[in-house]
Amino acid sequence: MTTLPSSTARALAVQSRTVKLVLVVASQLAFLSLGSAQASTQCLAPAFEWLPRGPVTHLSRVFQACREAGEPTRLATRTFEKGKQKYVHLVDPESLETTIVPALCLQCEEAEQVAWGNTRLFRALALATMPQRSLENVGVRHATRWVNGYFLTVDLCPSRKAGFDEEIFDALEALAPERGPGVPVGVAVSGLWVRAHRAQFEWLVEQQRQQRLRITWINHTYSHPFDARLPVGRNFLLEKGVNVDYEILGLEKLLLEHGVVPSVFFRFPGLVADRGLEDLLRSFLLIPVGSDAWLAKNETPQLGSIILIHGNENEPAGVDDFLKWLDKHRGLDANFLNISDVF
Ligand SMILES: [Zn+2]
Repeated sequence: MTTLPSSTARALAVQSRTVKLVLVVASQLAFLSLGSAQASTQCLAPAFEWLPRGPVTHLSRVFQACREAGEPTRLATRTFEKGKQKYVHLVDPESLETTIVPALCLQCEEAEQVAWGNTRLFRALALATMPQRSLENVGVRHATRWVNGYFLTVDLCPSRKAGFDEEIFDALEALAPERGPGVPVGVAVSGLWVRAHRAQFEWLVEQQRQQRLRITWINHTYSHPFDARLPVGRNFLLEKGVNVDYEILGLEKLLLEHGVVPSVFFRFPGLVADRGLEDLLRSFLLIPVGSDAWLAKNETPQLGSIILIHGNENEPAGVDDFLKWLDKHRGLDANFLNISDVF
């Protein structure tokens, strides 16, 4: 693990604040031009990334179109409160990037789904939730267009093991000098893993802050229900009594409390779901991600594959296979792409 010298870290923080202040001033001017002087002063709410770690309350699902000065209209999918301020979780419907903006800096109105149906976000939702016969490996499994690379996803399901497979991330960071800042990786994280592995989670968050990795945080539910005695059709999120809303929002709340922005991607525990769960996921505007290259199951990555390995020390065979594969493809061949490029 490496850390920036504190002077460099401070300089970066000041730089980031300056950028945000410029944005705030720009939005002030825009609001003033709309004749709303009151909105301009209130828009000085602290940016989400300035907030200290702390409780998040009133996290709820919304579907609104929001406008911020100088930005294209984006979709609001959640609102929440942190540090006595209201924030909005926004999705860019074309890039699929997510961000968090103080509610006071936005003008929002209820959105109609028909108006957004042709966006990349809704096309991706439709493709990833196409009807399939099996309950297993639900979600998009492979790029839906030709791409020159692979999508790596690392699952962090709850685990009794004290550590994690840091060597996966070290190997990705070692690629970075050849490939620019930070290799993209999807980390499918569960809440119980975070709670039992605070230091490891913070280390990952720090790698992202320092742009040593480009992490897309994939929601893998809060408690990741699983009972080895139950058949697939009544297991994971299909187990009786599981509160799926809580599983989804509980993980998002935990990430937000740590200053981490959730993405639009989701991985079902066990990759298992039925039609009802897929419909529910769509109503949360979350895109399910499966895999066609689960390495511990001897599936071999092809160009465009969504690779799955576990980083929680529960599946060392997959990690070994990945490191060997990486070694073999160490040339220009092992090109990792951002998960949103699947669509
Ligand atoms: Zn899992």
